[in-house]
Amino acid sequence: MDFDALFKAQLDALKREGNYRIFAELERKCGKFPRADKHGQDGKREITVWCSNDYLGMGQHPDVVRAMVETAQACGTGAGGTRNISGTNHHHRILEEELADLHGKEAALLFSSGYVSNWAALSTLGSRLPGAVILSDALNHASMIEGIRHSRADKVIWRHNDPEDLDRKLAALPAERPKIVAFESVYSMDGDIAPIREIVEVAERHGAMTYIDEVHAVGMYGPRGGGVAEREGLMDRITLIEGTLGKAFGTFGGYVTGSAVMCDFIRSFSSGFIFTTALPPAVAAAATASIRHLKVSQMERARQQRQVRHLREALEARGIPHMDNPSHIIPVMIGDPVKCRMISDMLMADWGIYVQPINYPTVPKGTERLRITPSPYHSDADIDHLVTALESLWKRCAIARQVA
Ligand code: PLP
Repeated sequence: MDFDALFKAQLDALKREGNYRIFAELERKCGKFPRADKHGQDGKREITVWCSNDYLGMGQHPDVVRAMVETAQACGTGAGGTRNISGTNHHHRILEEELADLHGKEAALLFSSGYVSNWAALSTLGSRLPGAVILSDALNHASMIEGIRHSRADKVIWRHNDPEDLDRKLAALPAERPKIVAFESVYSMDGDIAPIREIVEVAERHGAMTYIDEVHAVGMYGPRGGGVAEREGLMDRITLIEGTLGKAFGTFGGYVTGSAVMCDFIRSFSSGFIFTTALPPAVAAAATASIRHLKVSQMERARQQRQVRHLREALEARGIPHMDNPSHIIPVMIGDPVKCRMISDMLMADWGIYVQPINYPTVPKGTERLRITPSPYHSDADIDHLVTALESLWKRCAIARQVA
Protein backbone atom coordinates (compact mmCIF):
# COMPACT_ATOMS: atom_id res chain seq x y z
CA MET A 1 0.00 0.00 0.00
CA ASP A 2 1.25 3.48 -0.85
CA PHE A 3 0.96 5.12 2.58
CA ASP A 4 2.67 8.32 1.44
CA ALA A 5 -0.04 8.77 -1.19
CA LEU A 6 -2.69 8.47 1.55
CA PHE A 7 -0.90 11.04 3.69
CA LYS A 8 -0.40 13.36 0.74
CA ALA A 9 -4.09 13.25 -0.23
CA GLN A 10 -5.06 14.59 3.20
CA LEU A 11 -2.33 17.21 3.16
CA ASP A 12 -3.49 18.33 -0.30
CA ALA A 13 -7.03 18.71 1.06
CA LEU A 14 -5.70 20.93 3.86
CA LYS A 15 -3.86 23.04 1.28
CA ARG A 16 -6.98 23.43 -0.86
CA GLU A 17 -8.94 24.67 2.19
CA GLY A 18 -6.16 27.13 3.06
CA ASN A 19 -5.62 25.37 6.40
CA TYR A 20 -2.17 23.93 5.74
CA ARG A 21 0.18 25.28 8.38
CA ILE A 22 3.53 26.81 7.58
CA PHE A 23 5.67 27.87 10.51
CA ALA A 24 8.19 30.65 10.34
CA GLU A 25 11.73 29.55 11.21
CA LEU A 26 12.81 31.92 13.94
CA GLU A 27 15.71 32.37 16.30
CA ARG A 28 14.74 34.26 19.41
CA LYS A 29 17.35 36.72 20.60
CA CYS A 30 17.91 36.75 24.33
CA GLY A 31 17.98 40.30 25.66
CA LYS A 32 16.25 41.68 22.55
CA PHE A 33 12.75 40.22 22.95
CA PRO A 34 10.42 40.65 21.00
CA ARG A 35 13.03 40.71 18.22
CA ALA A 36 14.02 37.48 16.53
CA ASP A 37 15.93 36.45 13.43
CA LYS A 38 13.84 34.91 10.70
CA HIS A 39 15.68 32.36 8.63
CA GLY A 40 14.85 32.05 4.94
CA GLN A 41 16.38 31.07 1.64
CA ASP A 42 18.06 34.47 1.37
CA GLY A 43 19.68 34.30 4.83
CA LYS A 44 18.29 35.77 8.01
CA ARG A 45 16.74 39.08 8.96
CA GLU A 46 15.56 40.63 12.18
CA ILE A 47 11.80 40.79 12.70
CA THR A 48 9.40 41.62 15.56
CA VAL A 49 7.33 38.86 17.09
CA TRP A 50 3.74 39.83 17.94
CA CYS A 51 2.24 36.47 18.78
CA SER A 52 4.43 34.96 21.48
CA ASN A 53 2.91 33.35 24.55
CA ASP A 54 6.06 34.28 26.47
CA TYR A 55 3.68 37.05 27.46
CA LEU A 56 5.98 38.88 29.85
CA GLY A 57 9.32 38.20 28.18
CA MET A 58 10.40 36.08 31.17
CA GLY A 59 12.17 33.70 28.80
CA GLN A 60 15.01 36.18 28.61
CA HIS A 61 14.97 37.45 32.20
CA PRO A 62 18.54 37.38 33.56
CA ASP A 63 17.52 35.54 36.78
CA VAL A 64 15.69 32.88 34.78
CA VAL A 65 18.46 32.39 32.23
CA ARG A 66 21.07 32.28 35.00
CA ALA A 67 19.10 29.67 36.94
CA MET A 68 18.84 27.49 33.86
CA VAL A 69 22.51 27.79 32.91
CA GLU A 70 23.86 27.33 36.43
CA THR A 71 21.61 24.34 37.13
CA ALA A 72 22.52 22.69 33.83
CA GLN A 73 26.17 23.16 34.73
CA ALA A 74 25.61 21.78 38.20
CA CYS A 75 23.18 18.90 37.43
CA GLY A 76 23.64 18.20 33.72
CA THR A 77 20.92 18.45 31.12
CA GLY A 78 18.27 15.74 31.55
CA ALA A 79 16.35 14.40 34.53
CA GLY A 80 17.58 10.90 33.72
CA GLY A 81 14.17 9.34 33.40
CA THR A 82 10.72 9.27 34.92
CA ARG A 83 10.45 10.09 38.60
CA ASN A 84 9.35 6.48 39.10
CA ILE A 85 12.70 5.29 37.73
CA SER A 86 15.13 8.08 38.57
CA GLY A 87 13.59 9.73 41.59
CA THR A 88 12.57 13.29 42.24
CA ASN A 89 15.25 15.83 41.52
CA HIS A 90 15.78 18.37 44.28
CA HIS A 91 14.75 21.13 41.82
CA HIS A 92 11.40 19.42 41.15
CA ARG A 93 10.58 19.50 44.84
CA ILE A 94 11.52 23.17 45.19
CA LEU A 95 9.40 24.07 42.16
CA GLU A 96 6.40 22.10 43.41
CA GLU A 97 6.59 23.92 46.75
CA GLU A 98 6.80 27.24 44.94
CA LEU A 99 3.70 26.38 42.87
CA ALA A 100 1.70 25.17 45.85
CA ASP A 101 2.53 28.44 47.59
CA LEU A 102 1.62 30.48 44.49
CA HIS A 103 -1.88 29.05 44.50
CA GLY A 104 -2.31 28.74 48.27
CA LYS A 105 -2.62 24.96 48.02
CA GLU A 106 -1.10 22.10 50.01
CA ALA A 107 0.70 20.51 47.10
CA ALA A 108 1.56 20.63 43.41
CA LEU A 109 2.55 18.05 40.82
CA LEU A 110 4.70 18.70 37.77
CA PHE A 111 4.11 17.37 34.26
CA SER A 112 6.01 17.69 31.03
CA SER A 113 3.60 20.30 29.65
CA GLY A 114 0.32 22.04 30.32
CA TYR A 115 -1.24 19.78 27.70
CA VAL A 116 -0.03 16.67 29.52
CA SER A 117 -1.15 17.99 32.91
CA ASN A 118 -4.73 18.51 31.67
CA TRP A 119 -4.79 15.23 29.82
CA ALA A 120 -3.32 13.28 32.73
CA ALA A 121 -5.24 14.90 35.58
CA LEU A 122 -8.67 14.84 33.94
CA SER A 123 -8.27 11.32 32.62
CA THR A 124 -7.17 10.08 36.04
CA LEU A 125 -9.90 11.86 37.98
CA GLY A 126 -12.60 10.84 35.51
CA SER A 127 -11.56 7.20 35.30
CA ARG A 128 -10.73 6.60 38.96
CA LEU A 129 -13.67 8.28 40.68
CA PRO A 130 -16.46 5.69 40.46
CA GLY A 131 -19.47 7.01 38.52
CA ALA A 132 -17.83 10.38 37.86
CA VAL A 133 -19.40 12.89 35.48
CA ILE A 134 -17.26 15.66 33.99
CA LEU A 135 -19.07 18.88 33.16
CA SER A 136 -16.98 20.62 30.56
CA ASP A 137 -17.28 24.20 29.27
CA ALA A 138 -18.11 24.09 25.54
CA LEU A 139 -14.91 25.93 24.61
CA ASN A 140 -12.42 24.01 26.72
CA HIS A 141 -8.96 23.42 25.30
CA ALA A 142 -8.13 20.30 23.28
CA SER A 143 -5.97 18.95 26.12
CA MET A 144 -8.93 18.97 28.51
CA ILE A 145 -11.22 17.42 25.91
CA GLU A 146 -8.68 14.64 25.25
CA GLY A 147 -8.27 13.99 28.97
CA ILE A 148 -12.02 13.75 29.46
CA ARG A 149 -12.39 11.48 26.42
CA HIS A 150 -9.62 9.21 27.63
CA SER A 151 -11.20 8.94 31.09
CA ARG A 152 -14.32 7.36 29.54
CA ALA A 153 -16.32 9.12 32.25
CA ASP A 154 -19.72 10.52 31.30
CA LYS A 155 -19.34 14.01 29.89
CA VAL A 156 -21.84 16.86 29.93
CA ILE A 157 -21.04 19.99 27.95
CA TRP A 158 -22.38 23.28 29.32
CA ARG A 159 -22.73 26.49 27.37
CA HIS A 160 -19.57 28.55 27.31
CA ASN A 161 -19.21 30.80 30.37
CA ASP A 162 -22.85 30.22 31.32
CA PRO A 163 -23.26 29.35 35.04
CA GLU A 164 -27.04 29.08 34.66
CA ASP A 165 -26.70 26.36 32.06
CA LEU A 166 -24.14 24.64 34.31
CA ASP A 167 -26.61 24.88 37.19
CA ARG A 168 -29.36 23.22 35.12
CA LYS A 169 -27.06 20.47 33.98
CA LEU A 170 -25.77 19.77 37.48
CA ALA A 171 -29.31 19.73 38.86
CA ALA A 172 -30.25 17.02 36.36
CA LEU A 173 -27.60 14.62 37.70
CA PRO A 174 -28.07 12.25 40.65
CA ALA A 175 -26.77 13.78 43.88
CA GLU A 176 -24.57 10.79 44.72
CA ARG A 177 -22.47 10.87 41.54
CA PRO A 178 -19.04 12.61 41.85
CA LYS A 179 -19.09 15.66 39.59
CA ILE A 180 -16.14 17.59 38.17
CA VAL A 181 -16.72 21.04 36.69
CA ALA A 182 -13.89 21.76 34.23
CA PHE A 183 -13.29 25.20 32.74
CA GLU A 184 -10.64 27.80 31.94
CA SER A 185 -10.10 31.28 33.29
CA VAL A 186 -8.78 33.08 30.19
CA TYR A 187 -9.87 31.51 26.89
CA SER A 188 -6.91 31.79 24.61
CA MET A 189 -8.53 32.42 21.25
CA ASP A 190 -11.27 34.94 22.12
CA GLY A 191 -9.50 36.29 25.20
CA ASP A 192 -12.69 36.25 27.27
CA ILE A 193 -12.61 35.46 31.00
CA ALA A 194 -14.86 33.02 32.84
CA PRO A 195 -17.28 34.21 35.56
CA ILE A 196 -15.30 32.16 38.06
CA ARG A 197 -17.19 33.22 41.19
CA GLU A 198 -20.59 32.29 39.74
CA ILE A 199 -19.26 28.97 38.43
CA VAL A 200 -17.72 28.12 41.80
CA GLU A 201 -20.94 29.04 43.63
CA VAL A 202 -23.00 26.81 41.35
CA ALA A 203 -20.52 23.94 41.74
CA GLU A 204 -20.50 24.34 45.53
CA ARG A 205 -24.30 24.22 45.66
CA HIS A 206 -24.22 20.86 43.89
CA GLY A 207 -21.24 19.46 45.79
CA ALA A 208 -19.12 19.33 42.62
CA MET A 209 -15.36 19.72 42.54
CA THR A 210 -13.93 22.50 40.39
CA TYR A 211 -11.06 22.17 37.91
CA ILE A 212 -9.73 25.39 36.42
CA ASP A 213 -7.16 25.77 33.65
CA GLU A 214 -5.26 29.03 34.31
CA VAL A 215 -2.69 28.41 31.57
CA HIS A 216 -3.14 31.86 29.98
CA ALA A 217 -3.44 33.63 33.33
CA VAL A 218 -0.66 32.40 35.60
CA GLY A 219 2.05 35.01 36.00
CA MET A 220 -0.27 37.56 34.40
CA TYR A 221 -3.08 38.27 36.83
CA GLY A 222 -3.31 38.58 40.61
CA PRO A 223 -0.90 40.43 42.90
CA ARG A 224 1.54 37.49 42.88
CA GLY A 225 0.76 36.15 39.41
CA GLY A 226 -1.47 33.37 40.73
CA GLY A 227 -3.99 33.95 37.93
CA VAL A 228 -7.52 35.30 37.67
CA ALA A 229 -8.66 33.18 40.62
CA GLU A 230 -6.04 34.88 42.76
CA ARG A 231 -7.09 38.33 41.54
CA GLU A 232 -10.67 37.53 42.51
CA GLY A 233 -9.82 35.95 45.86
CA LEU A 234 -11.18 32.56 44.83
CA MET A 235 -8.21 30.20 44.84
CA ASP A 236 -9.20 28.52 48.09
CA ARG A 237 -12.64 27.68 46.71
CA ILE A 238 -11.31 25.87 43.63
CA THR A 239 -10.42 22.21 44.07
CA LEU A 240 -7.71 21.95 41.40
CA ILE A 241 -5.79 24.72 39.65
CA GLU A 242 -3.88 23.74 36.53
CA GLY A 243 -1.23 25.86 34.83
CA THR A 244 1.75 25.97 32.53
CA LEU A 245 5.34 27.04 32.95
CA GLY A 246 5.64 27.56 29.20
CA LYS A 247 3.80 30.84 28.70
CA ALA A 248 4.08 33.81 31.09
CA PHE A 249 6.74 32.01 33.15
CA GLY A 250 8.85 31.75 30.00
CA THR A 251 10.11 28.19 30.47
CA PHE A 252 8.49 24.79 29.95
CA GLY A 253 6.28 22.26 31.71
CA GLY A 254 2.84 22.04 33.29
CA TYR A 255 1.37 21.40 36.72
CA VAL A 256 -1.66 20.90 38.90
CA THR A 257 -2.11 22.16 42.45
CA GLY A 258 -4.60 21.18 45.13
CA SER A 259 -4.85 19.14 48.30
CA ALA A 260 -1.92 16.91 49.21
CA VAL A 261 -4.06 13.80 48.93
CA MET A 262 -5.39 14.75 45.49
CA CYS A 263 -1.89 15.42 44.13
CA ASP A 264 -0.72 12.12 45.63
CA PHE A 265 -3.71 10.40 43.99
CA ILE A 266 -2.85 11.81 40.55
CA ARG A 267 0.85 11.06 41.08
CA SER A 268 0.02 7.46 41.96
CA PHE A 269 -2.48 6.64 39.22
CA SER A 270 -1.75 8.88 36.24
CA SER A 271 0.03 7.27 33.30
CA GLY A 272 0.84 10.77 31.97
CA PHE A 273 2.90 11.31 35.10
CA ILE A 274 4.30 7.83 35.71
CA PHE A 275 5.49 6.82 32.25
CA THR A 276 7.30 9.88 30.93
CA THR A 277 10.65 11.51 31.64
CA ALA A 278 10.54 14.26 34.25
CA LEU A 279 11.37 17.89 33.51
CA PRO A 280 15.08 18.66 33.24
CA PRO A 281 16.29 20.09 36.58
CA ALA A 282 17.58 23.20 34.79
CA VAL A 283 14.08 23.88 33.42
CA ALA A 284 12.60 23.40 36.89
CA ALA A 285 15.13 25.80 38.41
CA ALA A 286 14.46 28.40 35.72
CA ALA A 287 10.70 28.11 36.29
CA THR A 288 11.21 28.55 40.03
CA ALA A 289 13.25 31.71 39.41
CA SER A 290 10.56 33.08 37.11
CA ILE A 291 7.69 32.36 39.52
CA ARG A 292 9.64 33.88 42.43
CA HIS A 293 10.32 37.02 40.41
CA LEU A 294 6.71 37.44 39.32
CA LYS A 295 5.43 36.90 42.86
CA VAL A 296 6.99 40.20 43.87
CA SER A 297 7.59 42.24 40.71
CA GLN A 298 4.63 44.18 39.32
CA MET A 299 6.66 45.89 36.61
CA GLU A 300 6.15 43.27 33.88
CA ARG A 301 2.39 42.95 34.47
CA ALA A 302 1.85 46.71 34.71
CA ARG A 303 3.83 47.51 31.59
CA GLN A 304 2.26 44.67 29.63
CA GLN A 305 -1.25 45.85 30.56
CA ARG A 306 -0.32 49.38 29.49
CA GLN A 307 0.87 48.14 26.08
CA VAL A 308 -2.29 46.05 25.64
CA ARG A 309 -4.43 49.13 26.32
CA HIS A 310 -2.29 51.23 24.03
CA LEU A 311 -2.57 48.76 21.14
CA ARG A 312 -6.34 48.44 21.57
CA GLU A 313 -6.73 52.23 21.44
CA ALA A 314 -4.53 52.46 18.36
CA LEU A 315 -6.52 49.73 16.55
CA GLU A 316 -9.73 51.49 17.53
CA ALA A 317 -8.47 54.83 16.26
CA ARG A 318 -7.58 53.36 12.86
CA GLY A 319 -10.73 51.24 12.51
CA ILE A 320 -9.04 47.83 12.54
CA PRO A 321 -11.69 45.27 13.61
CA HIS A 322 -10.66 43.46 16.77
CA MET A 323 -12.48 41.51 19.43
CA ASP A 324 -13.29 43.38 22.59
CA ASN A 325 -12.39 41.38 25.70
CA PRO A 326 -11.04 41.96 29.22
CA SER A 327 -7.73 40.12 28.75
CA HIS A 328 -4.31 40.60 27.20
CA ILE A 329 -5.19 38.69 24.01
CA ILE A 330 -6.16 40.83 21.04
CA PRO A 331 -7.80 38.88 18.20
CA VAL A 332 -7.90 40.81 14.93
CA MET A 333 -10.64 39.16 12.95
CA ILE A 334 -10.15 38.14 9.29
CA GLY A 335 -12.81 35.44 8.79
CA ASP A 336 -11.16 33.66 5.88
CA PRO A 337 -8.24 31.19 5.99
CA VAL A 338 -6.62 32.23 2.73
CA LYS A 339 -6.76 35.95 3.51
CA CYS A 340 -5.53 35.31 7.03
CA ARG A 341 -2.47 33.49 5.68
CA MET A 342 -1.95 36.18 3.04
CA ILE A 343 -2.08 39.06 5.52
CA SER A 344 0.30 37.24 7.83
CA ASP A 345 2.72 36.63 4.93
CA MET A 346 2.54 40.28 3.86
CA LEU A 347 3.14 41.50 7.41
CA MET A 348 6.28 39.40 7.51
CA ALA A 349 7.55 40.16 4.01
CA ASP A 350 6.82 43.88 3.83
CA TRP A 351 6.87 45.01 7.44
CA GLY A 352 9.10 42.58 9.36
CA ILE A 353 6.17 41.66 11.63
CA TYR A 354 5.44 38.10 12.66
CA VAL A 355 1.84 37.22 13.57
CA GLN A 356 0.97 33.59 12.94
CA PRO A 357 -2.43 33.15 11.22
CA ILE A 358 -4.91 31.27 13.42
CA ASN A 359 -7.03 28.96 11.31
CA TYR A 360 -9.21 25.85 11.75
CA PRO A 361 -9.09 23.62 13.81
CA THR A 362 -7.66 26.04 16.41
CA VAL A 363 -10.70 28.26 15.79
CA PRO A 364 -14.01 27.49 14.00
CA LYS A 365 -14.05 27.98 10.22
CA GLY A 366 -15.07 31.53 9.30
CA THR A 367 -13.49 33.02 12.43
CA GLU A 368 -9.88 32.98 11.24
CA ARG A 369 -7.85 35.67 12.90
CA LEU A 370 -4.54 37.18 13.82
CA ARG A 371 -3.97 36.73 17.55
CA ILE A 372 -1.84 39.56 18.85
CA THR A 373 -0.16 39.48 22.25
CA PRO A 374 1.65 42.66 23.26
CA SER A 375 4.44 42.24 25.81
CA PRO A 376 6.06 44.69 28.22
CA TYR A 377 8.92 44.94 25.73
CA HIS A 378 6.96 46.07 22.68
CA SER A 379 7.63 49.81 22.50
CA ASP A 380 5.12 52.49 21.54
CA ALA A 381 7.00 52.75 18.23
CA ASP A 382 6.51 49.00 17.69
CA ILE A 383 2.78 49.45 18.26
CA ASP A 384 2.64 52.33 15.82
CA HIS A 385 4.52 50.28 13.21
CA LEU A 386 2.11 47.32 13.63
CA VAL A 387 -1.01 49.45 13.39
CA THR A 388 0.32 51.34 10.37
CA ALA A 389 1.05 48.01 8.67
CA LEU A 390 -2.42 46.64 9.44
CA GLU A 391 -4.07 49.83 8.24
CA SER A 392 -2.18 49.70 4.98
CA LEU A 393 -3.06 46.03 4.44
CA TRP A 394 -6.71 46.69 5.28
CA LYS A 395 -6.83 49.39 2.65
CA ARG A 396 -5.23 47.09 0.09
CA CYS A 397 -7.64 44.26 0.94
CA ALA A 398 -10.62 46.59 0.80
CA ILE A 399 -9.49 47.84 -2.63
CA ALA A 400 -9.07 44.25 -3.77
CA ARG A 401 -12.60 43.46 -2.64
CA GLN A 402 -14.00 46.50 -4.45
CA VAL A 403 -12.19 45.58 -7.66
CA ALA A 404 -13.48 41.99 -7.37
N1 PLP B 1 -4.56 24.81 28.27
C1 PLP B 1 -4.83 25.81 27.43
C2 PLP B 1 -6.08 26.59 27.64
C3 PLP B 1 -3.97 26.14 26.38
O1 PLP B 1 -4.25 27.14 25.55
C4 PLP B 1 -2.78 25.39 26.23
C5 PLP B 1 -1.79 25.68 25.17
O2 PLP B 1 -1.83 26.59 24.44
C6 PLP B 1 -2.54 24.34 27.12
C7 PLP B 1 -3.45 24.08 28.13
C8 PLP B 1 -1.32 23.51 27.00
O3 PLP B 1 -0.25 24.11 27.67
P1 PLP B 1 1.24 23.80 27.19
O4 PLP B 1 1.52 24.68 26.02
O5 PLP B 1 2.10 24.07 28.38
O6 PLP B 1 1.26 22.36 26.80
